[in-house]
Amino acid sequence: MKRIGLAGFIHETNTFSSTPTLLENFIKQSGFYPELLQGEDILQFKQGKVNIASSGFLQEADTLDLEVIPLVWCGTEPSQSVPEDVFNTLMDMILDAMRKSLPYDGIYLDLHGAMVYGDLQDGETEIIRRVRQVVGDIPIVASLDLHGNISPENFELADAMVGYRTYPHVDGYEAGQRSAVLMKYLVDGNEVYKAFRQSPFLMPATTQPTTIEPAKSLYALIPEVEARENVLSASIMEGFNACDLPHTGPSIFTYAKTQQAADEAADFLLDAMLEREEGFSVNMFSAADAVKKAIELSNTADGTILLIDVQDNAGGGSPSDSVWILEELIKQKAQNAALGVIWDPAAAAAAHQAGEGAEIEIPLGGKSLPGHTPYTAVYKVEQLFEGDFIGVGPMVKGRRLNLGKMAQLSHQGVRIVVSTDRMQALDRSLFQTVGIEPSEVKILVLKSANHYRADFGSLAAEIINVDAPSAIIEDPVKIDYKHLRSGVRLKGLGPEFKPVQK
Ligand SMILES: [Zn+2]
Repeated sequence: MKRIGLAGFIHETNTFSSTPTLLENFIKQSGFYPELLQGEDILQFKQGKVNIASSGFLQEADTLDLEVIPLVWCGTEPSQSVPEDVFNTLMDMILDAMRKSLPYDGIYLDLHGAMVYGDLQDGETEIIRRVRQVVGDIPIVASLDLHGNISPENFELADAMVGYRTYPHVDGYEAGQRSAVLMKYLVDGNEVYKAFRQSPFLMPATTQPTTIEPAKSLYALIPEVEARENVLSASIMEGFNACDLPHTGPSIFTYAKTQQAADEAADFLLDAMLEREEGFSVNMFSAADAVKKAIELSNTADGTILLIDVQDNAGGGSPSDSVWILEELIKQKAQNAALGVIWDPAAAAAAHQAGEGAEIEIPLGGKSLPGHTPYTAVYKVEQLFEGDFIGVGPMVKGRRLNLGKMAQLSHQGVRIVVSTDRMQALDRSLFQTVGIEPSEVKILVLKSANHYRADFGSLAAEIINVDAPSAIIEDPVKIDYKHLRSGVRLKGLGPEFKPVQK
């Protein structure tokens, strides 16, 4: 029986973020990620189908008769570059555990693909390099999130890599299964040929969902390519733009029984990506234009006009308290409009203190971004809520949520959901809890980039992405890159990046 070591080390690094990445974030449970797991504890991923690649790898390994030695597994939510000492501490844990069970026939690594550590050093490249030093020349197979920014060095160092194929990500388990199948092929002594292509353009986040075009039909080509003779595996990465490294952006990698098959498969997918380039451009409206358009459309539309505040998305590290769109709604006298969720603990507390039916003059939102100011007005406290509520949409159905004190405030035809804890607007329950039924609203403003689609998508008569400033920059043309590779187009059919000469 072949012996496979398993380790996981997952982080999506936003090199522009002001949120630090601490060792304890990896040690404790955080958001989506369980606490750091060692040895047999990792086998908890064998209980049911968990949306984590190691779960699929472990279970598929059983059916393929591979013996898996679980070593260390850890991960945490997106934030700043991983400090070098934190990176070294966690790598030492992984490598110490690895040394204790030598030798192996193969190593499986559950990684993200967009980790940066220390001063702009590529995390995954260094992880695989250090593992290789310990285990020598045996197959190393990695699974990756589809937001991985893959460097040519990283690709060279790994014998095989397998990416997720869905965004929102719902196929972590399947990515692990596919990794196990490739691992089996490699440890059985078969030769694998590989090909790597970098995209010449970046994909703005709002264009990336694999549930809509242009990404939908692009990803649908992967199984088609894998069904070709001699092709073993194909992956497309969309990349994570908030990362200032030369290799940031989409890439393609393929594995096959011949070099020709690998190259042809990679070229086919790259051509398909280029054919769709126009669809990967940014399509956003200023707050003023977006509100104007929404008011016009809402007069005749059968359904709700969704205005998406894509950049003030708590799920990507933004504060979720900007009021640019609120100001426009009021200025342009929008009616039957609702907006959420504004993160403003002080406003929520004031509303609770005043009570339902009261009118309060408060500065609302606008407290986090430099240069931004609250929208001060007299708001009516329509409805209050505090405590647990239950998610209703596909992403959080049946799950207990709690945003602390919440309130529905209203001002001149606009209703606003205010919360004490921060969360992106990905579920209707966030509105229903304070008495707003989203399906009855004509103009609905959501602070979210893509995840809102899961529960609000079916309401939409029209979706308008709004270009209102926040901590996330949707249009890569406006991101202050210093280290991106020269010549890459900053979005579909966009301008080329040129490093600033000093
Ligand atoms: Zn991702």
